[in-house]
Amino acid sequence: GWRSRAAFKLIELDDRFHLIRPGMRIVDLGAAPGGWTQVLVKRGAEQVVGVDLLPVEPVAGAEIIEGDFTDPEMDARLISMLGGKADLVVSDMAPNTTGHAPTDHVRIIGLAEEALYFAFDILAEGGGFVAKVFQGGSEKAMLNIMKQAFTQVRHAKPPASRKDSSELYVVATGFRPDRINTQT
Ligand code: SAM
Repeated sequence: GWRSRAAFKLIELDDRFHLIRPGMRIVDLGAAPGGWTQVLVKRGAEQVVGVDLLPVEPVAGAEIIEGDFTDPEMDARLISMLGGKADLVVSDMAPNTTGHAPTDHVRIIGLAEEALYFAFDILAEGGGFVAKVFQGGSEKAMLNIMKQAFTQVRHAKPPASRKDSSELYVVATGFRPDRINTQT
């Protein structure tokens, strides 16, 4: 069985957008307890590395790094473990929330942006990026940067995501490293 309910969200995103393909190198940011990692392996990824602040029980067919994805050298470490740049970076990360809506909003956006910049460093040309964002949270600035750097950018709320939660996912495909422009 899947270790998390969240696994179904990735399954639904993949059924709709066909993100995971055999032979891919994939990085799973915020992997604990490992549901998405299981789905990535099951759907044929060649190599999967999950990263989380929390420990993750081993997942057959995947490697796990216990640490903060923003640690220096994490990009180099991942590329070296994968034997090359990633074809897909997925992030189901969520920050610790305070209950103070404006603070939480800023933290959520900040984390998604950091994940995006991290993806810029480790993605191969043509690669994809999936990240949890929040409604009203898809900041214009971040979206503009994504639209420059990827061929296609879409939003999706998978059915498995609770209706009363404001979470949704941004799905970007066709990474164009030569088009990164953070001045937008
Ligand atoms: N997709 C996972 C699954 O299916 O099992 C669930 C992920 S859970 C919703 C979000 C995770 O993001 C938490 O385990 C948290 O520790 C992790 N996280 C948050 N900030 C992080 C950071 N800076 N570096 C690594 N992991 C982080």
